[in-house]
Amino acid sequence: MSFDAAALPPLREALEAHGLMARKSFGQHFLLDLNVTRKIARLAGPFNGETVIEVGPGPGGLTRALLETDAGRVVVIEKDGRFIPLLQEVADAAAGRLQIVEGDALEADEAALAGSAGHVVSNLPYNVGTPLLIKWLTGPWRPRSMTLMFQKEVADRIAARPGSSGYGRLGVIAQAVCEARVVMDLPARAFTPPPKVASAVVRLDPRPDGPAPALVASLEKVTAAAFGQRRKMLRSSLKAVGGEALCEQAGIDPTARAEEIDVAGFLRLAAVRRG
Ligand code: SAM
Repeated sequence: MSFDAAALPPLREALEAHGLMARKSFGQHFLLDLNVTRKIARLAGPFNGETVIEVGPGPGGLTRALLETDAGRVVVIEKDGRFIPLLQEVADAAAGRLQIVEGDALEADEAALAGSAGHVVSNLPYNVGTPLLIKWLTGPWRPRSMTLMFQKEVADRIAARPGSSGYGRLGVIAQAVCEARVVMDLPARAFTPPPKVASAVVRLDPRPDGPAPALVASLEKVTAAAFGQRRKMLRSSLKAVGGEALCEQAGIDPTARAEEIDVAGFLRLAAVRRG
């Protein structure tokens, strides 16, 4: 689709022209290098003419790169109203492909914004990154794909394998619903202003045969109990949801600990607990 990001004023100039400074309370760390945002957009695609929802566009560096892809439409949700006029300039150059929504992404109705075929791409505000991911993993609206920036430590937890130190609730739920991969690492200096820690981009592709919402809800309960007391044996940590009998029914060793159980094992425990 024809959109030339480089034809717009450089992002730094656009920020200066609008007198905009990053605000800590909104978790603002900007990507101003178009080479970096283009790489993220490439890792997120292809979109085959479908809609992309971008949470927290800020000055719109990633937005510009997304408009250069084969996305049919890009819908941006930004909580900080100061950025709307700047984003409107991008929309004016985008021939109707960019829709700007001012508001809180935690409350957004993605189905209304993107229909059933929507992708999510975002350099997420760190303070709301995990709640947003949980919303998209467990909510009624399932994205076609998600390509999301997190603090490196959170990205590693999302993709962690059993037995590793980061393996826990978030990884089990994410990997039950999606195939999850860390696709890019970014040092703190890639952002303006730089955050305290390194970041990484995770790509999540929902499994076509993924668990139904009721099973995901059960998985949330089982993993909360198991990892809430991760040093205890499952027969004890899972007592409130079925204990030893539950483990036996699911074919899981009741003397094992949560970190030893793979995603398939947790799904069996969740299915038995439900039934
Ligand atoms: N995407 C831009 C970039 O890469 O340069 C900005 C990323 S910055 C880390 C996060 C952005 O999310 C900020 O623009 C911030 O105002 C916005 N934001 C924070 N909380 C939000 C929320 N709950 N809903 C929507 N946007 C939010």
